[in-house]
Amino acid sequence: MYTKEDVEKFFASDNGQVVEHALEQSICWPLIGQKNYKSLFYYCKVCHDVENIYLASIENHIRLKDSEKHKAKLIEYLQKEREKEGQGND
Ligand SMILES: [Zn+2]
Repeated sequence: MYTKEDVEKFFASDNGQVVEHALEQSICWPLIGQKNYKSLFYYCKVCHDVENIYLASIENHIRLKDSEKHKAKLIEYLQKEREKEGQGND
């Protein structure tokens, strides 16, 4: 689980997550969906019409395009997850 600081760092960086990684390891994974239409591709859950076969391209979209909007969504998600954890067995 990434922290708010990780998210801030990601958005402040020049090149995002440079190390090769799967969707599950992506800092933006809560905002990224996967579709399998003819071939597998990724899409931005916030913008819907943004899709690409490359995970890195979607991450770049999230980081560079309307970054404040994407960042807010990501932080909102992390906070919800944290609240869930705090409540224990709910
Ligand atoms: Zn988007």
